[in-house]
Amino acid sequence: MGMDSKYIETDIVIIGAGPVGLFAVFEAGLLKMRCHLIDTLPQPGGQLAEIYPKKPIYDIPGFPSILAGDLVRNLLKQIEPFQPGYTLGERAEVLERQADGRWRVITERGTVHVAPVVFIAGGLGAFEPRKPPIGNIGDYENGRGVAYCVRNPEEFSGRRIVIAGGGDSALDWTIYLADDAASLTLVHRRSEFRGAPDSVEKVQELARQGRIRLITNAQVVGLKGNGRLEQVIIQHETDGLFEVDTDYFLPLFGLTPKLGPIEHWGLELKDGAIAVDTRDYSTNLPGVFAIGDINTYPGKLKLILCGFHEATLACQAAFKVVNPDKKLSFKYTTVTGIEGFPAKTPR
Ligand SMILES: Cc1cc2nc3c(=O)[nH]c(=O)nc-3n(C[C@H](O)[C@H](O)[C@H](O)COP(=O)(O)OP(=O)(O)OC[C@H]3O[C@@H](n4cnc5c(N)ncnc54)[C@H](O)[C@@H]3O)c2cc1C
Repeated sequence: MGMDSKYIETDIVIIGAGPVGLFAVFEAGLLKMRCHLIDTLPQPGGQLAEIYPKKPIYDIPGFPSILAGDLVRNLLKQIEPFQPGYTLGERAEVLERQADGRWRVITERGTVHVAPVVFIAGGLGAFEPRKPPIGNIGDYENGRGVAYCVRNPEEFSGRRIVIAGGGDSALDWTIYLADDAASLTLVHRRSEFRGAPDSVEKVQELARQGRIRLITNAQVVGLKGNGRLEQVIIQHETDGLFEVDTDYFLPLFGLTPKLGPIEHWGLELKDGAIAVDTRDYSTNLPGVFAIGDINTYPGKLKLILCGFHEATLACQAAFKVVNPDKKLSFKYTTVTGIEGFPAKTPR
């Protein structure tokens, strides 16, 4: 993926390679606009790839059920003819307008992207898991026992796992991983769970059957191990401190939605999201659009399907910015087919 160049010019710079940013490449391609995607994460797919690749999604039109990871793969295949560029593993830090009216997006590593149009498809913002306040937790991150999300469930098979949390993520992974784990302990601060009632029921049933150990009204307050995690220290409201031997500790407390650098770009914000005009999902900055989870407007729903719609309308408006002298005529893909860009044409 074209990561060698440090200066990139294109028609639309897309900040965020989640499902909505990816689909925008398709809609832009139909209108003959080229795109370049930037993402902090090392892989495209946004929340789908990072948080729940193995979960089925049921509300993508035409797919009664599709795994999030498969949806990302399909989107990548769908946009292939339009040869988007990628700057992955870099966070967009600066958005500024040049004298020629085009926008310049600069990443923390200094990669410069220039285009007349910017789509901000940053989802929840840069990914930051909520971490429990355990002083030495950093010592066990990066493959030494502590993980904030499950990327590859097979990694946990036959292992001892301690999960902490009371929301859907903690419950769903408890149910999923219980099957193959050597042992699984779920620790939750309260006695009630925030997750879906159906999942709560399943977790309680697993505990009744003795297939998991459920410890409520308790928190993991310490970690021990020699180079790699070996024990968690749990503090129970009434029983006090005790230790549990484990290979993994998964604190699944969700992600902190942080806009990060996007907050400082002069965009009109509302409730921590970018305010847009629903005619074309434009922001208060000319040529800058916000689509997907990152935007807000009356009636907003944070759904993939809604983001796809927003990307489609934003592309229509972007066409006028990229091609001020051209007229846009609307055509169905059933009529035109998909005419990709010729291979390796320099822009
Ligand atoms: C567990 C779970 C289950 C879900 N189930 C469903 C479901 O069944 N159906 C449904 O429709 N929706 C579901 N959702 C919601 C859905 O995942 C989101 O609506 C969708 O991911 C939004 O897509 P997006 O492209 O707008 O943003 P995201 O997927 O959040 O992607 C945004 C990307 O932008 C990047 N980014 C942000 N800021 C920067 C920056 N400054 N520089 C570089 N990159 C940046 C991030 O790293 C991220 O990769 C679910 C969400 C979760 C967490």
